[in-house]
Amino acid sequence: MTLQTRDLTELGSRLKGRVIEPGDSEYDAARTVFLGGIDGRPAVIVRPADADDVARVVGLAAETGLELAVRSGGHSGAGHSTTNGGIVLDLSDMKRLEIDVPGRTAWAEAGLTAGDYTIAAAAHGLATGFGDTASVGLGGLTLGGGVGYLLRKYGLTIDSLLAADLVTADGRLLRVDAQSHPDLFWAIRGGGGNFGVATRFRFRLEPVDDVVGGMLILPATPDVIAGFIAAAEAAADELTTIANIMPSPPMPFVPPEYHGRLILMALLVHSGGGEAGERAVAPLRKLAEPIADMVRPMKYPEIYPPDDPSYHPQAISRTLFVDEVDRGVAEAIVGHLQASDAPVRVAQLRVLGGAVARVPAEATAYAHRTRRIMANVAAFYEGPDDRPLREAWVTEFAKALSHGDDAAYVNFLGDEGEARIRQAYPGSTWDRLVEIKARYDPGNLFRLNQNIPVGNKGTPASIR
Ligand SMILES: Cc1cc2nc3c(=O)[nH]c(=O)nc-3n(C[C@H](O)[C@H](O)[C@H](O)COP(=O)(O)OP(=O)(O)OC[C@H]3O[C@@H](n4cnc5c(N)ncnc54)[C@H](O)[C@@H]3O)c2cc1C
Repeated sequence: MTLQTRDLTELGSRLKGRVIEPGDSEYDAARTVFLGGIDGRPAVIVRPADADDVARVVGLAAETGLELAVRSGGHSGAGHSTTNGGIVLDLSDMKRLEIDVPGRTAWAEAGLTAGDYTIAAAAHGLATGFGDTASVGLGGLTLGGGVGYLLRKYGLTIDSLLAADLVTADGRLLRVDAQSHPDLFWAIRGGGGNFGVATRFRFRLEPVDDVVGGMLILPATPDVIAGFIAAAEAAADELTTIANIMPSPPMPFVPPEYHGRLILMALLVHSGGGEAGERAVAPLRKLAEPIADMVRPMKYPEIYPPDDPSYHPQAISRTLFVDEVDRGVAEAIVGHLQASDAPVRVAQLRVLGGAVARVPAEATAYAHRTRRIMANVAAFYEGPDDRPLREAWVTEFAKALSHGDDAAYVNFLGDEGEARIRQAYPGSTWDRLVEIKARYDPGNLFRLNQNIPVGNKGTPASIR
């Protein structure tokens, strides 16, 4: 079915928010998403002002059968934040934030980004853990899990989630928490956008203010890589690290002789700060003479570099988990990175554990609680011609690191098919998600996502 002019006129007259159509001067900017190479042309982009508007758009999608793309920050790696010929429900105008300072909680609308929220909460010396990038939206990040700089101390983003307001496929606005719709509350903590449109979230805030954090760049030899991961795992839970092993870009703070050579570019936060922070970082600094050391006392939001809205990389990536980075694994990482000539190529290692692992696997729909290290391998491509080459390298590299263990973090999945989605939800997690999906979205209205299919209990034949 197509969208008629009268549908749009009627929708526009009933909405408090905005309706953007092809031909409007804003249309091209409004259809642009974070990743390059994604060029959806929706029939309409709606920017709701509140939950009632959201319910109206969900109703329109249900009536017309048109594909519905739900967008908060537009960072989907699978291209799910836009559609060709369908409806984009873009929550980016919904940015209300109410912080209860004494109660240490916040109600945050889904259109806020990690950066918006973090800066506002920091004014009170408080934080909730999100990801590594300020422009990522709270909507997608939270519903998939949320892996960031506070995870070893305070867990995933979903571990700080107390409640959400959700518009379901039948247009109802539900308050979802441990008491009310507990099945849905379980499902939206990791199950992504399958169950409804989250209009706002209630988060717990933690006392995070002065931290020790920043970038530490070391030469990426196998010994340094293995030593870094061992030291990061042995560190106190206050220290969370992200290690990017990659050829050095020509960054001004890296001496020119290192440009193009493999570096370990670590981004880290010690949420306690002060002396304890310096002590925790010391073993990392000792692994080799740092090429650049910008780890310093800072206010927590400073860990986010400023966003560049014109940055739209074309990238292929694969997500996986590894449980050890010994010298052999480190050698494999170095070998694969050296064997490619992609303009940007990287292996990213995030040491997990701590508070993430203290939550039982069945408590939320993010079940990979005991996995020790999350890895991503990625390459940028320049256009359709070199994409297959870069994709083959990424696939082969990921296979070499995962040894056939295909477990995945849903928020880092691309458009990789149902078997891969199944790998994000091991064992009974999948069955439970399928059952809840059938109850709340039997028509699969929310299908443009890492989709939990309706009525498909059990394991796809391809991965048995
Ligand atoms: C540069 C970059 C850095 C990243 N860093 C991290 C990181 O450090 N840690 C981490 O955990 N992840 C990270 N991610 C992955 C990120 O969490 C996911 O891509 C996430 O889905 C993005 O959320 P979004 O709202 O920005 O994206 P969108 O594209 O707007 O949304 C992605 C999907 O989430 C669902 N969705 C979004 N909003 C809602 C809503 N309000 N209600 C219902 N469903 C919704 C929809 O299915 C949508 O297709 C990163 C991604 C990028 C591109």
